[in-house]
Amino acid sequence: MGAGHRYQGAAFAGSVARLSQLPPDTGAEVAFAGRSNAGKSSALNALTGRRGLARTSKTPGRTRMINLFALDGAARLVDLPGYGYARVPDATRRQWTQLLGTYLARRQALRGLVLVVDIRRGLTRLDWELLELIAERPVPLHVLLTKADKLSGGAARQALERARRCLEDAGIEASLQCFSATRGSGIEDLRGLLDEWLAGA
Ligand code: GDP
Repeated sequence: MGAGHRYQGAAFAGSVARLSQLPPDTGAEVAFAGRSNAGKSSALNALTGRRGLARTSKTPGRTRMINLFALDGAARLVDLPGYGYARVPDATRRQWTQLLGTYLARRQALRGLVLVVDIRRGLTRLDWELLELIAERPVPLHVLLTKADKLSGGAARQALERARRCLEDAGIEASLQCFSATRGSGIEDLRGLLDEWLAGA
């Protein structure tokens, strides 16, 4: 495993704190969002097969920034700042929301959003707040229920169905899958979907 996919070539391409610092809004991007500690960095590492890749995003000062990873061609992976940190001043929180909101609402290169959710927690209030940010815009959404190795197969399937129903009830169109960075399960499904989203770029 590992060979033959375009994600292994991902190269850190910088961190930005302002949207004006983003690379030109051309080509194609897939963005990853999620609560802090949901498993977003581990998922990015597993996707690319590069253990240390998203560690860059975790260096102090960068967790609140948008981290960019260049793929071949005109494609990029975008690691959005995690949300839900405790003890963050309201003003900082508002800044993040604005950064995320404007990025998600305006970025033309955005081909899809992967929402990383800890399968044991399911979708939380903060995740719904994030989903509201794309409500006005039909960006394809994929919910990655990660840490699936922490549940039995049956419980994981139940959690998936529960999340699917909640999204349906809210009128939100999304695909969903179970994932485990630890076990390496669900990686091929994720790569397949991103291949579709990024096709042509
Ligand atoms: P982030 O803050 O969303 O980037 O989360 P991390 O990727 O740093 O993961 C947070 C914690 O969850 C770390 O202790 C990881 O080792 C753990 N973790 C992440 N993914 C998995 C997984 O698939 N299975 C298990 N068991 N633990 C995971």
